[in-house]
Amino acid sequence: MSETADRINTDVLVVGGGPAGCWAAWNAAKNGASVVLIDKGYIGTSGATAAGNTTTIYTRRGTAERAATVGQRVRLGHGFTEAERVERVLDRTLENLDLLAEWGYDFPSYEDGRPYRGMLRGPDYLRFMRQKLIKARVKVIDHCPVEELLVSDGAVAGAIARFRRTGETLEIRSGAVVIATGGCAFLSGALGTNNLTGDGYLIAAEAGAVLSGMEFSAQYGISPAYSSVTKGVVYFWGTFSDEEGNVLTAPGDRQNAVATELIRGPVYAILDKASPRLQEGFRRGQPNIFVPFDRMGIDPFKERFPITLRHEGTVRGTGGLKIDDRSTTTVPGLFAAGDAATRQGMSGASTGGGGPNSSWAMATGSWAGEDAATYVRSLGANWASRKARSANQREAPPSSPSGANLDCVINQTRQQILPLDGGYFRSQETLSKASGILADLWNDEAWRSGVRAKVRETEALIATSRWVTESALLRTESRGLQRRKDFPDPNPLLVRSIDSGGTEDIWASFQPQQQLSAAS
Ligand SMILES: Cc1cc2nc3c(=O)[nH]c(=O)nc-3n(C[C@H](O)[C@H](O)[C@H](O)COP(=O)(O)OP(=O)(O)OC[C@H]3O[C@@H](n4cnc5c(N)ncnc54)[C@H](O)[C@@H]3O)c2cc1C
Repeated sequence: MSETADRINTDVLVVGGGPAGCWAAWNAAKNGASVVLIDKGYIGTSGATAAGNTTTIYTRRGTAERAATVGQRVRLGHGFTEAERVERVLDRTLENLDLLAEWGYDFPSYEDGRPYRGMLRGPDYLRFMRQKLIKARVKVIDHCPVEELLVSDGAVAGAIARFRRTGETLEIRSGAVVIATGGCAFLSGALGTNNLTGDGYLIAAEAGAVLSGMEFSAQYGISPAYSSVTKGVVYFWGTFSDEEGNVLTAPGDRQNAVATELIRGPVYAILDKASPRLQEGFRRGQPNIFVPFDRMGIDPFKERFPITLRHEGTVRGTGGLKIDDRSTTTVPGLFAAGDAATRQGMSGASTGGGGPNSSWAMATGSWAGEDAATYVRSLGANWASRKARSANQREAPPSSPSGANLDCVINQTRQQILPLDGGYFRSQETLSKASGILADLWNDEAWRSGVRAKVRETEALIATSRWVTESALLRTESRGLQRRKDFPDPNPLLVRSIDSGGTEDIWASFQPQQQLSAAS
């Protein structure tokens, strides 16, 4: 463990201040716990939601609208969506959205003036939550990445963080920890994902936590080639063509057709199927989609523009820390929420973008906060005097920034995940090669002498890539976001979860079928 400059105690430590972390902090405080909410960036502008608008799902159980939403999730989940779990997530989402309205959050309105609760403006939403948390006496700490967890007799007992500005460490002793560090997009450049490097997966796995569904992480979003904006809804009204203007007519999934053509050469889109009314609606409802077009002076409804696919990993894909039917991980005292937790029960083997993800973050965040507060109460009064040690047992070499080329290691790691030929379309050959390269990178000590905060991010990126790769190797079929060139069809015998874990010795294994309670 590093030398500690400062030490604080709190009942519940929430790591990550996106929507999942904010709802966790609020619910833990509401349930009587003292709470610290800590983020590697600034709470209100950091993470995937802070970067733009978020559609969410506001439906009431028992209505036709709710039934349609659940039915759609089950259809898109490729056998992994649990209908009752979706219902519970959406029940909690409705409750939270009503609470936001009661607190005075300024929801957008329908044309007739009625408030529309299915849309949250990211920056407003998170700034609003930040103020709410400060009023609820949650201690908010910005720009202070958590680097390792503390454990005591197999239970999580706090964390060590490091202030970005001073480099000093902060030891936080806590009765429980909520991991709400978001997903991992492998530094692909997709909007809002630039610091989502899988840190929470790494620190939790070091404490013995299990991950699940990591193979269903090959989510890519369409964006203009010159932009990071992967908001995809408008492309349903698009026509795609190759360099010469030939329209891509491949049957089936439009993204597969785009990915196949992008491996060969440039691909263009034009949003020519959107009616004038729809165009106006998009401009009003999703203004950030149009910022890059306006900057380039392009009218996307009338002119062709080059597109690309940007990796979004577990931010919009599935995969993450394994939790029970609320938010408890496999390690006592450790809870996980939002993109940090596997979303398999909600979005199955496919993406949960466009509503399910933000709902998942609200519901699992709320449950994590409530259950963490209850857990701390069960520990009795003396939890703060527990003897604790770092869960990271790897000896850190002395820091000598000039000696370590971390960017080179990060780039080699990204190359095993991001390219369309290998990352989007996988095969035994590409995955086995990646597995070997990633193991060599992990076992190389030389780069670990770099700046500590960046070394930890690099370790998180490599570890996350390894869980993805080993899980994808094991799943010898194509299903949802797992696309195997050598196994192009789904195998009905493989509707079973794959768990993974370990940091030094990575493992992945199929779980018995019955673990998928109520799988549809
Ligand atoms: C372009 C785009 C558009 C999207 N649109 C939608 C949509 O319309 N509807 C929808 O449902 N979903 C959408 N999503 C997904 C949605 O944004 C995420 O599911 C949601 O943000 C998850 O919330 P979270 O709190 O789990 O993670 P995040 O919002 O990503 O927050 C994670 C936080 O953890 C912090 N953190 C990370 N590591 C550490 C560390 N070591 N120490 C301390 N803090 C740390 C980060 O700084 C960040 O603030 C979209 C995603 C993208 C990328």
